[in-house]
Amino acid sequence: MSRVDVLAIGAHPDDVELGCGGTLALLARQGRRVGIVHLTRGEAGSRGTEGERRQEAEAAAATLGAAELAFLDCGDGAFRTGPAEEEALIAVVRRLRPEIVLGPTPIDRHPDHPRAHALVAAACFYAGLAAREPGSGKPHRPAAVYSFMQHDDFPPSFVVDVTTTWDTKLAALRAYRTQLYQEDEKEEAGGGAGAPVTKVSTREFWRMIEGRARHFGGLIGAELGEPFGARYPLAVSDLFAVLPGGVR
Ligand SMILES: [Zn+2]
Repeated sequence: MSRVDVLAIGAHPDDVELGCGGTLALLARQGRRVGIVHLTRGEAGSRGTEGERRQEAEAAAATLGAAELAFLDCGDGAFRTGPAEEEALIAVVRRLRPEIVLGPTPIDRHPDHPRAHALVAAACFYAGLAAREPGSGKPHRPAAVYSFMQHDDFPPSFVVDVTTTWDTKLAALRAYRTQLYQEDEKEEAGGGAGAPVTKVSTREFWRMIEGRARHFGGLIGAELGEPFGARYPLAVSDLFAVLPGGVR
């Protein structure tokens, strides 16, 4: 692995694509090196095997233009945030050395997500401490950690205009054939006849994703947007670079 500009970290395979896939595709298109880390392998998922989910994740990452993809083993459905998980993520952060980290939300319906948020925040800080895991690489602390939106919404700190990369995000999501509703087939996601219906496998969920992007996009004068939360105010040096688009 070599260093990246931006590292997106999600609890489960498909979290990153759902939360910030359009933003990652945009960054990759702008020439930034993008990496993705899935903190679990989706082993507790109701649909699809672990091997299938790994292949899906690889296809999705390639679609978004990600240069790096890694999996950790924090426990899907029983997410762990102990010293071993911190150590593993610290090693990844030091190896990939991102300036920006995009991670899970602090408050969410799925309990794995806030736990993953806490792990990401802790690992990004500790990765900069020389005394912590001295054997796992040169210390590095990302300049910023932002949260992408998952189930629960929140007032965003900023919204990225993803109108031009929305199709790429959808293509990445379609790579998760066992998980998500496949619009083109006019049927619910694969996984075989009788596969259990989960929230994300329904057509309603698919439409919610687009509806949310249209809502938050509308707030910045864009057709489609991805919202993010920042713990600290954004450091703006050019007010003209953050103007809304669209009709005034
Ligand atoms: Zn998730």
